[in-house]
Amino acid sequence: MEPASPSIVVNYTDADRTVREHIAALSALPRSTESVTLLDSLGRVLATPVLADRDQPPFPRSTRDGFACRAADLSSAESLFMVGQLRAGEVWAGPPLQPRQVIEIMTGAPVPAGADCVLMVEHAMVDSGGIRADRTLAPGENIVPAGAEAHVGATLVPSGTRIGPQHIAAAAACGYADLAVYARPRVAILATGDELVPVASQPLIHQIRNSNSYSIAAQVLRHGGKPVVYPIVRDNIDVIESAIEEALTCDLLILSGGVSMGKYDFVEQALLDLHAEFFFTGVRMQPGRPVVFGRLPAASAANQDRYFFGLPGNPVSTMVTFALFVAPLLAALAGEASDHIGPGFAEARLAIDITARPGLTRFLPAQLKSDSAGATILPVAWQGSGDQAAVSKANCFAVIPGQSEDLPAGSTVRILLFS
Ligand code: AMP
Ligand code: MG
Repeated sequence: MEPASPSIVVNYTDADRTVREHIAALSALPRSTESVTLLDSLGRVLATPVLADRDQPPFPRSTRDGFACRAADLSSAESLFMVGQLRAGEVWAGPPLQPRQVIEIMTGAPVPAGADCVLMVEHAMVDSGGIRADRTLAPGENIVPAGAEAHVGATLVPSGTRIGPQHIAAAAACGYADLAVYARPRVAILATGDELVPVASQPLIHQIRNSNSYSIAAQVLRHGGKPVVYPIVRDNIDVIESAIEEALTCDLLILSGGVSMGKYDFVEQALLDLHAEFFFTGVRMQPGRPVVFGRLPAASAANQDRYFFGLPGNPVSTMVTFALFVAPLLAALAGEASDHIGPGFAEARLAIDITARPGLTRFLPAQLKSDSAGATILPVAWQGSGDQAAVSKANCFAVIPGQSEDLPAGSTVRILLFS
């Protein structure tokens, strides 16, 4: 057995910086790609950029229902005369518009030559004497010129983008039926604990169902990984070591439990025996203090070294430490560009007073609500980091910095969105 593992306990901000330094180095990693149908690309990471196949818009597009006309004609009180109508999907085949002529035009139709603005139908008075406007317009109003949104060949979605509905729209507009995406990283999930039983079994009074493997797998899916769930690992150093060795075929290893100070918390020792390098072995935060981050040597010379996280077994700690540390690293392994990667923080006002706990960054399960006065955040009552019932009432975590002043209701705090 190797000598005792190092104790590297850091502040939350230092832990975050450490993970981000590793993320930055991951951009050069070689990754395999695959082609998927456009809709199957949702949530995947784009491997080849989406390019505009023609100017967008391809023609000067009317953005309103109304009358294509000449701005200069609207400054006189004289009536204008309609010489035709143009629907979306049609193109004007007549001669260019002459002074005081207008063409009735619908949203999305190409503005005919000679017209330089579109008078909204709401601002036009039409009677037997012709058309009069209740306002003047500047040339260009209510028209998007050809190519103003993008020129042919422009990158609409760069590679490294996590594909959302807006990117699918851009690709669809350019005729992409399939997209090239990076292969999902395979993420080994190893839950340790003698008290654990599979979720389908009836636990004895002193046993606990292995919920962490599920919450971790759900978070892995959310962040673009492929969960590989291993059977429950018992609190025995040899058993833990062989489970870890087996899991080295995956791209990332996540262990849960066994990283605290208990007599049967063997995970760090097992990692050390397998020649792990540790970046931190604890973070001054609550919940999640015992979280471990490091790297294991590759199983073979052909492989990359493998990052691992030892997440604390308490279910709320497991979820928070995943959201803070694992999610960004997993996103980077999945090919997401490092300048895009969260965790997703926002800000909101506290609905209640919070007392200070200097030196400890706290992540309190909370409900974020929006009303006309803005977003407010109400921490839920909880029994600490094992309280799954409380966390399932929460949709975010209120981030309480480790300062010495109490935070009165109404203070603005950061929130970590649940992901
Ligand atoms: P540990 O981190 O191993 O000291 O475990 C801390 C607490 O989390 C204990 O109450 C465990 O029973 C609980 N726990 C550990 N692993 C899991 C798991 N996979 N699912 C649910 N609870 C767990
Ligand atoms: Mg345990």
